[in-house]
Amino acid sequence: MHVSEARAFLVRGTVQGVGFRPFVVRLAETHRLAGWVLNDGGGVQIHVEGDPSAIDAFATGLQTDAPPAAQVVEIHAARTVWTGLDRFVIRESERRGAPTARISPDLPVCDACVEEMLDPAARRFLYPYINCTNCGPRFSLVLALPYDRQRTTMASWALCSTCEAEYHDVRDRRFHAEPIACPACGPQYWLLEGEARLEGCDAVTRAAQLLQTGAIVAIKGVGGYHLCCDAAQSETVRALRDRKYRKSKPFALMARDIATARSLVVAQPQAEVLLTSAARPIVLMPARIALPAVALNHCELGVMLPYAPLHHLLFRAGAPPVLVMTSGNRSSEPIAYEDEDALTRLAGIADAFLVGGRPIARRVDDSVVRAGSSGPLIVRRARGYAPDVVAHLPATRPILAVGADLKNTIALVVGGEVIVSQHIGDLDHLPARDAFRATIGDLVAMYELDWHDIVVAHDSHPEYASSTRALDLPAHRHIAVQHHRAHVASVLAERSALDTRVVGVAFDGTGYGDDGSIWGGEFFVGSVSGGFARVASLQPFALPGGDAAARSPVQAAAGVLTGIGDLPDLTAPPFAFGQRFVHATRLAATGVRTFTCTSAGRLFDAAAAILGFTQNVEYEGQAAEWLEQLAWGAADAIALPFAASDRYIAIDGALRHMIQARRAGEDPAVTARAFHEGLAAAIAAMTVRLCSEGGTNCVVLSGGTFQNAMLLEMVRAHLPSALHVWTNRRVPPNDGGISLGQAAIASLG
Ligand code: ZN
Ligand code: ZN
Ligand code: FE
Repeated sequence: MHVSEARAFLVRGTVQGVGFRPFVVRLAETHRLAGWVLNDGGGVQIHVEGDPSAIDAFATGLQTDAPPAAQVVEIHAARTVWTGLDRFVIRESERRGAPTARISPDLPVCDACVEEMLDPAARRFLYPYINCTNCGPRFSLVLALPYDRQRTTMASWALCSTCEAEYHDVRDRRFHAEPIACPACGPQYWLLEGEARLEGCDAVTRAAQLLQTGAIVAIKGVGGYHLCCDAAQSETVRALRDRKYRKSKPFALMARDIATARSLVVAQPQAEVLLTSAARPIVLMPARIALPAVALNHCELGVMLPYAPLHHLLFRAGAPPVLVMTSGNRSSEPIAYEDEDALTRLAGIADAFLVGGRPIARRVDDSVVRAGSSGPLIVRRARGYAPDVVAHLPATRPILAVGADLKNTIALVVGGEVIVSQHIGDLDHLPARDAFRATIGDLVAMYELDWHDIVVAHDSHPEYASSTRALDLPAHRHIAVQHHRAHVASVLAERSALDTRVVGVAFDGTGYGDDGSIWGGEFFVGSVSGGFARVASLQPFALPGGDAAARSPVQAAAGVLTGIGDLPDLTAPPFAFGQRFVHATRLAATGVRTFTCTSAGRLFDAAAAILGFTQNVEYEGQAAEWLEQLAWGAADAIALPFAASDRYIAIDGALRHMIQARRAGEDPAVTARAFHEGLAAAIAAMTVRLCSEGGTNCVVLSGGTFQNAMLLEMVRAHLPSALHVWTNRRVPPNDGGISLGQAAIASLG
């Protein structure tokens, strides 16, 4: 006789919006099982009935054959009541309790959709909103959980009968693909050029033509508007800089295809893996050609490949093969993502607007990565990565960690899983603070958390906008976390190594220290669970103007050099430091508005000033970046003398050497390299000593300074191979990773 049994499965992980339910239906049909599948707030629920051995095979298939974009974390199976079903169906999504399901990051258009879009016989020929279960936007489109069309920005477009049939056809690539659309039923694109308005394919054709003729076009993308122009026309690129108030920060490029990308940069295999990965980030790679208007004084270019259907259409319509694709904003404002806002804010910048009808749920910038010698290094984490889970923490309550004031991100811990928000940016302007607030509200609403249950973690800097905002939030409790301990903890959280005792090296620009002074060149010994003791640092120096000195390398130089006697007149050539230096030197000498500081960022600023970078910086870390780029120009150099004592790495000898070298007319590239060599050797020497004293062979390197590839490589090279060296892999080493570290410390606090 035929024996039938029933089994229930609960699947957790990134299983919504990635074609998981259709996959379950096909799997059930393959094994001739009846039952149902549905999305709930925690993941996917499945009920199957049929032959026990077929159910076993089905269970194996769930583990082994899941769709490529799904990440199954856990499958819970249990016997359940047999109800005599006769077929397998997708049931209405269920809502029970607060959601914990993961939201998939946005996915690039898949090859099958690109092929279909370029097929004149296909229904979606040249249709820019083509997508399927394997591709298309997710995070930028979800309004609430569980993931269903009526809770996305596609809710207001009803499916036509043909799309409806595809949606319900289990053999179709669009079976339960929530955002599907076609030219008959979905949104369109249009081009606004002065008073003129062009629709559909004409809009794309005209936009491509405008780009060819040197115009700047604002283009609505996946997570916001891009400002776009031909990278080969330097006049246009310079006009874009003028209009955007962005003097020197490099622009990102979009190359038509991988072959075009290879003509721009030296793409190592690991870099190509990143370039073509599902996140489709901007990848920083060594430049093959010079594009001074795009990236002045840089030996790297940031390149990405087309990821939205519209990008493919633009290139097909004749857009130049290499486009500047930069965030649609003015200098440091957040990227524009709402149509009205974009049309207003970008009015003086763009010559035309290519606007799409599908709303964007939240702004998500392009991500920026580099293929480091020891794995990918994320510089800016946003589209394609957010809101993936980056770590697991032993947290019994939800934790909201609000990050720091620069390169801000927010971390949310729900059910022990840490979600890190997309990059929000620097909170020094009102629009960015609004975006910061909106993101907190968005995350807390998405997971329907009760404010009174939440532990809020924030930076210990009392004057950070993020700290004061955090203290205003109605929380279960607030925890202040010291900035550099958060940097070290971010690496350990990624590795679930909260009890591991390490030597933690945190080198960065600015952070508030335990004693109220400005830290940023710190050595700790300890663990996340046991706490970190600060055991050594850069030798403290004076910093006139405090945090504000970060804008002016000569101001930092004035502070650093105050403690060093008998120096030449630095207002004379070749240094020619201006009034700002004279004024800051006076402040430092008298101690007025002068703080004690151990910041590596300010040390790099001072070194850059000595070698010729005397203007104000336009963005955080610019002078240090300049110094690194300069150093790559020298083959090798003799390390500058940074003497390491018990507690300090002394800096005066090295700076004195730099001043002498510059006066003697030595090549600044060689001196810049010697600076890196010397500092790396000193960091390594201090680390080795602390490891043996502290009884550990684990080293953590974090903080924005370790984004410097030359310094990181040199430190690694100096450390003995018996030591394990851990760096950030899933969040940036810069302040974009602070929220994760805060969450880790708060989870045990
Ligand atoms: Zn597709
Ligand atoms: Zn349709
Ligand atoms: Fe930092």
